Amino acid sequence: MIPLRPNISSMKGYVPGFQPADESEYIKLNTNENSYPPSPAVVAAILAELGSDGASLRRYPSATSQRLREVAGELYGFDPAWIIMANGSDEVLNNLIRAFTGEGEEIGYVHPSYSYYATLAEVQGATVRTFGLTGDFRIAGFPDRYEGKIFFLTTPNAPLGCGFSLDYIENLAQNCGGMLVLDETYADFADGSALGLVKKHENVVVTRTLSKSYSLAGMRLGLAIARPQVIAALDKIRDHYNLDRLAQAACIAALKDQAYLGECVRKIRATREWFAEELGKLGYSVIPSQGNFVFTSHPDRDGKRVYEALFDRKILVRHFTDPLLSHGLRISIGTWKEMETTLRAIREIG
Ligand code: PMP
Repeated sequence: MIPLRPNISSMKGYVPGFQPADESEYIKLNTNENSYPPSPAVVAAILAELGSDGASLRRYPSATSQRLREVAGELYGFDPAWIIMANGSDEVLNNLIRAFTGEGEEIGYVHPSYSYYATLAEVQGATVRTFGLTGDFRIAGFPDRYEGKIFFLTTPNAPLGCGFSLDYIENLAQNCGGMLVLDETYADFADGSALGLVKKHENVVVTRTLSKSYSLAGMRLGLAIARPQVIAALDKIRDHYNLDRLAQAACIAALKDQAYLGECVRKIRATREWFAEELGKLGYSVIPSQGNFVFTSHPDRDGKRVYEALFDRKILVRHFTDPLLSHGLRISIGTWKEMETTLRAIREIG
């Protein structure tokens, strides 16, 4: 018998969105990636790091990602001691659970949001409590005092796209006995951010990623911002060379090119508003979105039917079998042209 821990043998594991082998055949709107390429400065920085013969790859990368933390610190207005870089924000979510939650202890999160929190908790042997959302997108039944070790709030929410006001989030921070982790994966596409709460409340952590707004999902770059004591704890348990050399070069260049980011985000937000309006004209209901995606449903509330009809037309969107979500589709916002093609297909499907 192979002596696996029982929680590992019984867990299912996280299933990421479908990545086709030949993606050129598809319009890919199923994993909230960015359809635009990263900044040209990123490509130049990766090539410069690589050099003509790749000699730099013989050497380990910086173990502290010091330069990246300085650049990120300047951008977000924090001392580098408040920042940790990660191999995708998934890595830092994992380390937060490992740092704060032991076997049998509880974490909480909103369902629907990012179910990977639950997978990470299962690995740790922690228990998971989920809270639903009310019709006006507030957390249903959140207690006056939540004593779980961590509460994860995806803000703006994914897959629904709704945002939470700063006052609301601050109130949550005050009601959490443990840590409040604000997963701001989609915050660059939103009207605001709760980053300022990190300075006001010692139990608040904000996580960010370069996967979406910076078009760098393939480089695996994320970060967390929190009190130095929290960052120091996360630093102890991460892989010591968690970011490779090319990722570090890419990250610095991407964060420094704010003009490119701004223009890319502006295009995606404008496309999102137009696409949502057009869907509305076709009778679809659309939740107002603060992310780079919309959650929408046909009046017949048969998400699977539309998903399959789009799939047949080589358009990939996300359909969830979860009963709370199966009536709709989450559609990432691509280029204007991709969204025009998608709308044409949706009209055709009827
Ligand atoms: N949080 C949320 C809400 C996400 O949607 C994702 C990516 N799908 C992540 C975290 C992880 O992002 P990454 O590891 O690419 O930074």
